[in-house]
Amino acid sequence: MPFADVAVNAAVPLLQTFTYRIPDSLRVEPGQAVYVPFGLRTLQGVVMAVREDSPVSETRDIAALIESRPVLSAAHVGLAAWMSEYYLAPLFDCIGLMLPPGSRQRPLTLLRPRLTADETGALGLSDEEAALLNLVIERGEVAQEEVRKAIGKRAAAIVASLLRCGCLERIYRLRPPSARPKAVRVIRLSDRAAARRRADELRADGSALALRRAGLLELLISEEEMPLSRARASGLTPAFARDLTDGGIAVTQEISLLRDPLAGREFAHRAPPRLTPAQEAAARAIARALEARASGQPAGFLLHGVTGSGKTEVYLAALDKAVSLGQRAIVLVPEISLTPQTVRRFAERFPRRVAVMHSGLSLGEHFDMWQAVRDGRFDVVVGPRGALLAPQPDLGLLIIDEEHEWTYKQQDSSPRYHAGRVARELCRLAGAVLVLGSATPDVESYFRAQEGDDQLLELPERVRPAAGGGVETAPLPGVEVVDLREELKAGNRSIFSRPLARGIQEALDSGEQVVLFLNRRGTASFVQCRDCGYVAECRSCSVALTYHEPERALVCHYCNRRAPLPASCPRCEGDRIRMLGLGTERVEEEVKKAFPAARTLRWDRDVTRGRDTHESILARFLAHEADVLIGTQMVAKGLDMPLVTLVGVISADTSLHLPDFRAGERTFQLLEQVAGRAGRGAKGGRVVIQTYTPEHPAIESAARHDYRGIAEREIAFRRRLGYPPFGRLAMITLSHTGAEYAREQAAATAQELKQKRRDLGLANIDILGPSPAFAHRVRGRWRWNILLRGSDPATILRGFPLRRGWTVDVDPISIL
Ligand code: ADP
Ligand code: ZN
Repeated sequence: MPFADVAVNAAVPLLQTFTYRIPDSLRVEPGQAVYVPFGLRTLQGVVMAVREDSPVSETRDIAALIESRPVLSAAHVGLAAWMSEYYLAPLFDCIGLMLPPGSRQRPLTLLRPRLTADETGALGLSDEEAALLNLVIERGEVAQEEVRKAIGKRAAAIVASLLRCGCLERIYRLRPPSARPKAVRVIRLSDRAAARRRADELRADGSALALRRAGLLELLISEEEMPLSRARASGLTPAFARDLTDGGIAVTQEISLLRDPLAGREFAHRAPPRLTPAQEAAARAIARALEARASGQPAGFLLHGVTGSGKTEVYLAALDKAVSLGQRAIVLVPEISLTPQTVRRFAERFPRRVAVMHSGLSLGEHFDMWQAVRDGRFDVVVGPRGALLAPQPDLGLLIIDEEHEWTYKQQDSSPRYHAGRVARELCRLAGAVLVLGSATPDVESYFRAQEGDDQLLELPERVRPAAGGGVETAPLPGVEVVDLREELKAGNRSIFSRPLARGIQEALDSGEQVVLFLNRRGTASFVQCRDCGYVAECRSCSVALTYHEPERALVCHYCNRRAPLPASCPRCEGDRIRMLGLGTERVEEEVKKAFPAARTLRWDRDVTRGRDTHESILARFLAHEADVLIGTQMVAKGLDMPLVTLVGVISADTSLHLPDFRAGERTFQLLEQVAGRAGRGAKGGRVVIQTYTPEHPAIESAARHDYRGIAEREIAFRRRLGYPPFGRLAMITLSHTGAEYAREQAAATAQELKQKRRDLGLANIDILGPSPAFAHRVRGRWRWNILLRGSDPATILRGFPLRRGWTVDVDPISIL
């Protein structure tokens, strides 16, 4: 095959590849990374196909191979093309996700001599040529860019002539990824006794400053070491830090941030438990599919198991089977740092055979791991969304845990892909078995299973390890829904309803733990003038600012801009500025006030700036260093907290009234997942949900743990309105600094799309909008959405020339 179609790392339209001639000296095959001339530059490319003839008459030659071994497998070549087509994303953006980390670059072009200094005399070179050649000979090699800078315009001609006469050759190189591990500065206790004495002195002093310092020191004594960033957030000043280090109490130092949950730990093999009949049936169905892989029938499973039903044991059994058949696997989890318990269980079952991909790796470490995975060193790769495209050879099994999680959708950059959708295509191309698992499956996944496109596997009962070994079934926690309107009528203005307050007190009295969930961080959700109704908003994002007590500042949750709390209303100058609504900080304060003996711990984005603090918060709570854990979504993840007997939802309404058709589904998922944290231990547990709308189906269903009820209701609703899975959506968003321009541009684009719809005769595609995005302005840019709805709305966008500033999101996860 003399020609190759190459995807080039350049800004080119979508699916476009370019045809190059294959020089006789090269053996080229699909999946190989190559250097190709492109305009005046040499760029990186990946061979998508080889062919007998060229569709264009003029072709240039492939310059060189980057590596002779293909960088993409045949399945990945097909997958990249599919992703580009499906998500309307540039082909090389899709390929970029599959390349070794850090290797997507503009290559360096280097000049190298082909003769020695003694040989140059007889060549009859011009002075300029001789000077350049001698420079290159002296240095061994020189970047072409450097030559151009030194000599200017004439460089190209001189270099060309030296190349022609064979004095110089060109080579290309990618910069190797940096191998430096990520590092972080920490403060570490060096003399515990001295620290203790110092804390006591400060306590005795009793001034506000001394007390704050004593508290900080005590925190350091209990944690031994903490990231400086967190110590500062907890009130460490430079003066006090110097004080501590000068006094020999603590040291600050830089430590490597190799936060691999498995690093440096040896895991003893843990033998599989005996499975329950339901687990056994599920595992057997998957095992049969793994055995039948050769038949080429794509097999997909939806493992719907209530919280704590033993889904992870089913995954482990399936992995055992795959490994025994000589196959390899990928397991996706929503976020490594939020799922340390799950990751640990994989490591214990397959010691040294599990690779964990996580954000704590430096580029160099990630690169090394990528190579090791490609060499087949690991049976199982565990990681977040991006691990889906790890170069795992002989892929036989792909598992997506907590498949309903929104982190599986890449939202911020192109391609805006969903790991679940791409996984299905990958499994088809690689002939692998797909297993999706969740207690609250995405309605679309559930519908697929109902239709028989995937096989539904159910674990309807919760299990827990029995006292005498083995396993016993356990009830799901009972749920009480409290109508906050009734509480108000009864004169209770506290944020805790009477049933919740009673429950917290009882749990505390019995030495049990409580989780309180609220979907918003901060102290007050917004600040409003009681006289004129003014609400403090971010100047560059059109959202209300949130009050944070520790800093006594208003914070924008979109762009993090901070503003002081106004003393009087900026609009009417009245002084009745009030803080309204609730955030996690305020809930923590209220717990301390109402239950002074309770030790509290807060878990939200404000306290987890460093990644390892997720683990330290969880570890502290599991070690019973706190009685009440107050948190946002993080507490809803699949964590096992056996001492928790009560879960309180402070307000179920925050996510219910968002203008998104998935608001109901989303609320149910959150409530059910948070509720799932209660009653995992021998003492059982219960849940109290506070709400102003107890009659809402999402809340009623959560109260009955009735997944099927809400799923069927959602399916009927979407069938009626043509929402997914009955129709598909594509959203395009314009984001621009000019308010007027953005509005006109959005309107004009909608008109053009409608025109194209007429031209193509595609009456069955709805074009909704343009409408201002829910956050109309973010970081100073005005945002407008156009939503396309229909059986294949992307057809209108294919080949449609969008101007700068537009982004395309096929199958958007949120239409806010
Ligand atoms: P899920 O993943 O569905 O939330 P897990 O797999 O974490 O559930 O199981 C819940 C608890 O029950 C865990 O502590 C797990 O170790 C235990 N468990 C699950 N299946 C078994 C079994 N067959 N034998 C013994 N213990 C089990
Ligand atoms: Zn903002």
